[in-house]
Amino acid sequence: MTDSSVCGLYKQTDGSIRVEYRWHHSRPERMQLLVEDFDSVILTTPSWLIETNIRLEGFNDEVLPQSVIDAWKHAHWETSCKVYAPLCKRFLDRNPLPQILVTDSFVHDVYAYRYNDSYPDDCILLSYTWEDDATKLALFSDGELAEKCIKELDRILLRCSNIGVAISPYIDARNIRIQRWMTDRNALGCAKLYRAGTYYDAVSLMKYNRDLSSASGLYLAGESFSVDAGWTEPCLRTAIDAVINLCSRTSAHFHGGFDLAHYPHYQVR
Ligand SMILES: Cc1cc2nc3c(=O)[nH]c(=O)nc-3n(C[C@H](O)[C@H](O)[C@H](O)COP(=O)(O)OP(=O)(O)OC[C@H]3O[C@@H](n4cnc5c(N)ncnc54)[C@H](O)[C@@H]3O)c2cc1C
Repeated sequence: MTDSSVCGLYKQTDGSIRVEYRWHHSRPERMQLLVEDFDSVILTTPSWLIETNIRLEGFNDEVLPQSVIDAWKHAHWETSCKVYAPLCKRFLDRNPLPQILVTDSFVHDVYAYRYNDSYPDDCILLSYTWEDDATKLALFSDGELAEKCIKELDRILLRCSNIGVAISPYIDARNIRIQRWMTDRNALGCAKLYRAGTYYDAVSLMKYNRDLSSASGLYLAGESFSVDAGWTEPCLRTAIDAVINLCSRTSAHFHGGFDLAHYPHYQVR
């Protein structure tokens, strides 16, 4: 299931939504284009991927207004980059490396993680950057970036009076993993922000489930459709919102005397 990528949502004349997806997406030799019809669909993908990778057809302006599509299209997404490596357990056994180092160098932040003894290695996040600091690293290939980070950390640690040793001999440089959110085909960004002057456009995305989902069958949830992005809490809130509205549409029985009259409205002006 985690290797199936949705590439189309088509509103059908009987009201259902046809979901088109690539089964075994990452293995071209086994990949199949499949479709399935659903009464309701909850859309949770990063918003720039909706525009670039997913076809939406058959939703007229009454059930999916252009203003809603514009609001997710015009969102701003930040980037981030992380450089991970396995770290030989002997390094943390012998050296008082803090769990987090905040530096003024291009590696920015460094995190060390101590696994329990059943794991052969510990882990080090050699570099954790956001936004412009991550963009600065875009130029370097994974190999170059890994080498630069290790060299830089050696330079810093050799000058630390309480450490004074190089970390490079303890890093498994053959198994470095680099995660760059802006070029990750399943993300295209790490945190959604709204541009100046577009706060209410973003709020209109949160209103969508209540106002129009019963007509479209399409529910919006997750980071892409919240205003306080970069944290899981607003994603959870929109997920609960989608469920509440879906339950209401399908005449579910709410506990504790709750009904939608108790549920606050998002205000767009
Ligand atoms: C570097 C970083 C650090 C963070 N730190 C924190 C933190 O400390 N605390 C905190 O609360 N939050 C943190 N966050 C934010 C938090 O991770 C997000 O807000 C949250 O994961 C968003 O959840 P989501 O379900 O909306 O989207 P995601 O978790 O992005 O899920 C979207 C899913 O859609 C999938 N997908 C993409 N395209 C398709 C497709 N075509 N078909 C099917 N599936 C698709 C993706 O693979 C992905 O699994 C951090 C985020 C990042 C990037």
